[in-house]
Amino acid sequence: MDLVAADRKHLWHPFTQQQGWVEEAPIVIEQADRCELVDIEGRRYIDGVSSLWCNVHGHRHPAIDLAVKDQLDRVAHSTMLGLSHRPAIELAEKLVEIAPPGLTRVFYSDSGSTAAEIALKMAFQYWHQQGERRTRFISLRDAYHGDTIGSVSVGGIDLFHSTYQPLLFDVLHAEPGDVADMERLLSEHAGEVAAVIVEPLVQGAAGMIVHPEGYLRRVRELCDRFGVLLVCDEVATGFGRTGRMFACQHEDVAPDLMCVAKGITGGYMPLAATLTTERIYEGFLGRHEEFRTFFHGHTYTGNPLACAAGLATLRLFEQERTLEVLQDKIALLGDLLAPVARMHGVLEVRRRGFMVGIELEGFPVEARAGHQVTLAARRRGAIVRPLGDVIVLMPPLAITKDELRRLVAITQESIAEVVAARDQQVPLAA
Ligand SMILES: *Cc1c(COP(=O)(O)O)cnc(C)c1O
Repeated sequence: MDLVAADRKHLWHPFTQQQGWVEEAPIVIEQADRCELVDIEGRRYIDGVSSLWCNVHGHRHPAIDLAVKDQLDRVAHSTMLGLSHRPAIELAEKLVEIAPPGLTRVFYSDSGSTAAEIALKMAFQYWHQQGERRTRFISLRDAYHGDTIGSVSVGGIDLFHSTYQPLLFDVLHAEPGDVADMERLLSEHAGEVAAVIVEPLVQGAAGMIVHPEGYLRRVRELCDRFGVLLVCDEVATGFGRTGRMFACQHEDVAPDLMCVAKGITGGYMPLAATLTTERIYEGFLGRHEEFRTFFHGHTYTGNPLACAAGLATLRLFEQERTLEVLQDKIALLGDLLAPVARMHGVLEVRRRGFMVGIELEGFPVEARAGHQVTLAARRRGAIVRPLGDVIVLMPPLAITKDELRRLVAITQESIAEVVAARDQQVPLAA
């Protein structure tokens, strides 16, 4: 069977213009080894974006592999609706232990998008049950919270979201990083707003937009002052990506609701959780016939295999002192990127911890410069994926210093190649 032909015949890839896809030779991944992916031809690539921002301790980590295999010998799936199971309980306990203070309740789902949907619905229903009609949310311009209709409603990236406008609910957009703008929106609308939702510190999908220091803390203070809930979407930033376990912890912020997904299973399996406080939880308590139940739940909510992978992932943070070991690598990454920021054709390098966006400049949209860089990087043995003309680097936390050097060198060479190709075609200005 010709895999590539079958892919072209039957698959429809996410966030992909299929017309372009079928014109290029795809890489078909067969296996992986720590921080490298291996394709069906046996070629090896550094996993420069953690398999879409979710791998943490590397691929095929023996401890996570073992935890999943062990769980497989017990039960692969059993529902959380009306039943419970050990991995879900133990992982919830662990999540509460490492989360910002006050987040004591864990509601599972299976993707970042559903974790955000759940936070929005919980916030809305919480106020509803307090007798308050609060139907609006404040989110940030260029926000990304997922691809389901509710999470798209609070999203703010025109390219992804504007087509669906007629399907979306109305949201107030605040200017990222601008405390005064958030204060203005809250003072004008506080009584109708259920929650403010933000990606703490870094807006990933927007192209790694880094907020000014102190912004998140000020947003927390404003939410308190105006009596509005704060949702932190830690789907991208969580599990060490910014250098702390959660990005909120850099600013000692405890949100009312926190969404986690991507890294929660170490990048092994789909799992997400929405964490919240006793205050929100208690707002849903009542007798059966009061119908204050949170009517939400997915078939695979809290899947035992995924929870087992999650538990092993969190244990590894302790056993391998992942965050401690990471700090040197973050410093090294900063050093390695300094010359990249000065490259011809690079507008800016934005970074927080292990989340990096390298913005190219001077390319027309149709040149697909970001994509060209990823193709050049593949030829050199690294997988990166751009956001438009922003090259993203977000390696697994387990990447070695040598691999990190190789990843940045490949990225640098690939950018140089694409910029040089452009410059040779562009006639010099008179
Ligand atoms: C990726 C992401 C999501 C969506 O997660 P999925 O698992 O892809 O649905 C939500 N919020 C943020 C901040 C993300 O980066």
